[in-house]
Amino acid sequence: MNKHSIQGFDVCSTTHCQVYGGASVETDLSNKAILDTKCEVLTYNETLAQTVFHANCGGHTEDPKYIWNWGKTPPYLKGVKCGFCTKTQSTNWKKTLDEVFIKKKLSVSNNISEKIKKIKIKGRTSSGSTKELEIIHSKGKLKLNAYRFRLAVDACEIKSHGFCSIKKHGGKFHFKGKGWGHKVGLCQCGAKVMAEKGESYKKILAHFYPGTKIGNIIYK
Ligand SMILES: [Zn+2]
Ligand SMILES: [Zn+2]
Repeated sequence: MNKHSIQGFDVCSTTHCQVYGGASVETDLSNKAILDTKCEVLTYNETLAQTVFHANCGGHTEDPKYIWNWGKTPPYLKGVKCGFCTKTQSTNWKKTLDEVFIKKKLSVSNNISEKIKKIKIKGRTSSGSTKELEIIHSKGKLKLNAYRFRLAVDACEIKSHGFCSIKKHGGKFHFKGKGWGHKVGLCQCGAKVMAEKGESYKKILAHFYPGTKIGNIIYK
């Protein structure tokens, strides 16, 4: 709740905190869901669970050890098979970026100012996404965490670290991948498909955060 205390408020309306389109996009159904679950929280071992979520996991959710420096992964976030999101539109993506653009971004984040010849996929995470990328440039090579590469180059243009292929033709790199976002925790597309099949929010939460319980807080 203190993320924006310097600015005088608690949460902002973007993906930084929680996307909110304003009162005009609220619906009776979503408002009912909010009121029906008022004061409910997700817990693990009597403490609040880290209920991180993302847009689309591409088929399996991610262990945060490949994403953030959390030290130990909470047992309920080690990653689960999703399979619900894989037929939705946002699962597969393609992006073409200029070598010059990538080089410019990597010069800021990793001090690479040489021509990038090739980008190789190195290793898979537990979700089947990319662990590391090997950047082969004119003066050598460098290994980079795939998620950090995405953030350094452009997190909007490159939708996830779930690279399927990276090819270079002329001065351009062609990326193909799966999933949208960091892939840790609840998959929004998967949760939507589960809900449309009639699964309850309790079942959806139990699927994406196994071992957690729903608790109650008294809002003062
Ligand atoms: Zn924020
Ligand atoms: Zn999913």
